[in-house]
Amino acid sequence: MFDTHQLVIGGELTDAASGETFESIDPSTGEVFAAVARGGQEDARRAVRAARTAFDEGPWPKMRGRDRAGHLLKVADLVKQNAKTLVDLEVRDAGHTVRMAAGADVGMVISTFRVFAELAAREADEQPLPRNPAPPSHNYLRREPLGVCVGITPWNFPMQMAAWKIAPAIAAGNTVVVKPASFTPTTTLEIGRLCVEAGIPEGVVNVVSGPGAAAGEELVSSPLVDKVAFTGSTEIGRRIMQLASSNIKKCTLELGGKSASVVLDDVDLDYVVDGALWGVFFHNGQVCSAGTRLFVHRSLHDDVLAELTKRAETLTVGPAPHTGSDLGPIISESQLDSVERYVEVGREEGADVLTGGERAIVEGHDGGYYYRPTIFAGVESSMRIAQEEIFGPVLAVIPFEDDDEAVRLANDSIYGLAGAVWCRDVGRAVKVAERLRTGTVWINDYHMINPRYPFGGYKQSGIGREHGDLGYDEYREVKHIHIDQSGSRERHVWWDITLPKRGASRNPGPEAPGSKHAG
Ligand code: NAD
Repeated sequence: MFDTHQLVIGGELTDAASGETFESIDPSTGEVFAAVARGGQEDARRAVRAARTAFDEGPWPKMRGRDRAGHLLKVADLVKQNAKTLVDLEVRDAGHTVRMAAGADVGMVISTFRVFAELAAREADEQPLPRNPAPPSHNYLRREPLGVCVGITPWNFPMQMAAWKIAPAIAAGNTVVVKPASFTPTTTLEIGRLCVEAGIPEGVVNVVSGPGAAAGEELVSSPLVDKVAFTGSTEIGRRIMQLASSNIKKCTLELGGKSASVVLDDVDLDYVVDGALWGVFFHNGQVCSAGTRLFVHRSLHDDVLAELTKRAETLTVGPAPHTGSDLGPIISESQLDSVERYVEVGREEGADVLTGGERAIVEGHDGGYYYRPTIFAGVESSMRIAQEEIFGPVLAVIPFEDDDEAVRLANDSIYGLAGAVWCRDVGRAVKVAERLRTGTVWINDYHMINPRYPFGGYKQSGIGREHGDLGYDEYREVKHIHIDQSGSRERHVWWDITLPKRGASRNPGPEAPGSKHAG
């Protein structure tokens, strides 16, 4: 028998209105490990109503930033205290290796809540503007919460994505409804529960697990929602934009990627090969920012390929709970099929599989979804395996002649989420980095995502930024307040332009034809 995970609505744990549940599968074994409330349209409506009431009538948006910050810090503490439960869930629900869940996920969740607590506590909600001299007025900007925010998240980093959607939204004084992906709902529900336990008022944080087509569409279409923050595929991102347009919701979209890792000719080979492997095979390449296209200077191409292949073959593919597993399972049977199909496409296109290119056999785990890390050489930039997001452990290596060609090839993509430049000469690396049309470039590093620094995409990788001050501002409206200091109506432009004259005009001008206002 396994646990049943409930929705979090209006400060309470609750079953779906229909009473239905769905099964969550452990991708390491292919077996069911949890039952989860199957939220539908009615649950989405309930959650939005709870969030609307909490925003319109509750204390949260009116609270001082530093008081909200205290609650966010409490959530961070609770996440730390409950780290083991969260790690166990992420390992089983999302197939995160235990090293990754314990070493990266929990830390990122804690730091996301802490960073946004810091931003909320800074109380930079008001900012003076230059004084207007004539007629004199005092002007200032005020930043205010947007209202009800919806966060929709993908299956690859469920726990981190929950924090990315909840922390900035509530730090800024909004209320939020999050819908996790159906493959991986449990850690998001758990974080929602911890927000309630932290004393965050009812209705401020709500979590509805359920299908995108029912719960998701209802949330994104609701006229009671002010903003949608979506992370997922570019295809669904387009649909989200359409639905959100019904009442002109603010939208931030974090979408797909096909990021380039560029290896110039002046590098430490050992360092670069390990960096490139980390860039592409971290979490099996199921990472939006994965460096799935490796561009290597022709003078190093063969050496890099030989070393990459050798080291890729030393990576252990195994069950997520085993500490010896470098790569865990792929999330689902359907995603494994999709990876397999893409590798066939690559072969048909004429690229060469240097290693991998098949399912991995993991002893005692026949039902799990495993694939060997795969490296393609002989790839042309126009091939589908170099253009389309595979979202699996598949690397395409392409040689180039000089920096200009590297930049041209790296930019030959509909995406622009992230990427890297590898070179001992940092000045040269920076010059190349500045020419890449992408939201983040790491120099001599990869996947260094940090809640203090903005993250988001150029081109079809998205709209807006998450993290840091820029990410925080995506959750705040800007209001300009003008306070008149002239003290006299005669000093105003409106005195001359529109109003009927009730005394001597300072600037009578020629008599206009036609009748004036009565009076
Ligand atoms: P997906 O687009 O299939 O689903 C994402 C979420 O949208 C899920 O919660 C799903 O239930 C929901 N959804 C689906 N249809 C919907 C609809 N019509 N209305 C409302 N919600 C709907 O993505 P996925 O397969 O879960 O995740 C993989 C994708 O996410 C990849 O493309 C990856 O690049 C992207 N991703 C991007 C980032 C980033 O920061 N740019 C981060 C992680 C993942």
